[in-house]
Amino acid sequence: STIRSFKQELVGVFGFPVAENPTQAMIEPAFAAMGLDWRYLTVEVRPEDLGAAVRGARAMNWRGFNCTIPHKVAVIEHLDRLSPAAEKIGAVNCVINQGGEWVGDNTDGKGFLQSVHEVRPIPGLRAVVLGAGGAARAIGVELALAGAKHMTIVNRDRGRGQVLTKLISEKTGVPTDFSDWEERYQVPLGTDLVVNATSIGLYPDVEARVPIDLTTLRPGMIVSDVIPNPPRTWLIREAETRGCQVLDGLGMLVNQGVIGIRLWSGHEPDSNVMRKALESLFLP
Ligand code: NDP
Repeated sequence: STIRSFKQELVGVFGFPVAENPTQAMIEPAFAAMGLDWRYLTVEVRPEDLGAAVRGARAMNWRGFNCTIPHKVAVIEHLDRLSPAAEKIGAVNCVINQGGEWVGDNTDGKGFLQSVHEVRPIPGLRAVVLGAGGAARAIGVELALAGAKHMTIVNRDRGRGQVLTKLISEKTGVPTDFSDWEERYQVPLGTDLVVNATSIGLYPDVEARVPIDLTTLRPGMIVSDVIPNPPRTWLIREAETRGCQVLDGLGMLVNQGVIGIRLWSGHEPDSNVMRKALESLFLP
């Protein structure tokens, strides 16, 4: 007979609020399918307790953790070092225990890159990013680092948009313009990729529409949305009818989870298991 181990390896997500974060429902089925006796815990950590929580994870030798709102920037001071991309983005959503050294990385933008990479090579692309918040920051920096030729940032709040525009051009050297978001945004001719990186359309406000001139979405353009729930946003549906290549936010969410599992465990999860787990939550 074999000797059983009753000790699981631990990872999870720290956030506040966190109860509605669905990552566990995607990651634990992946672990099961990989034959890994690991747990992904959804942990409510108040901002004032973040340092203690990270020390706790270190003390218990967790393999790592994700962090979400409001910890993505605040966690940095509790870590030993950052990946080059996380350093440029200035935010961490994935922490890895590398033999006792706690390293901050950012998988949001990398998950997005993977989705694009599956349909077209990134080097040379001309990209328009709608939004300038956390998701836009990760996506914008990673696209530029991956070889996008030109970037345009479009944002309602001009100050925030200009800060991101400057950050991308200074930290990556890729020419980046800012565009004011007036009425319906007109996508410039020659654009290869349009990303909605705003929260417009997120459940429960599913009827909200990204203010964009649909006639400027041309066949062959890649149109992507970060909104994971619902996966088929208004923008995705409209872009599809116009012959665009669409990428939904569920793909990005799955891909960042795949990268997290790879970084923590060194093993490759089955992304189909993860996507199906989320579809069973988000699709009626
Ligand atoms: P932030 O709050 O940091 O940024 C929100 C952005 O949306 C800002 O640019 C804001 O503009 C813009 N925005 C919100 N409402 C409107 C509106 N009515 N009109 C115009 N612009 C608007 O959020 P995050 O960047 O962290 O998250 C954005 C979305 O990305 C969320 O819905 C989240 O679910 C999703 N996400 C998806 C991931 C995935 O894996 N699929 C990963 C991470 C995030 P302004 O600056 O003018 O306020």
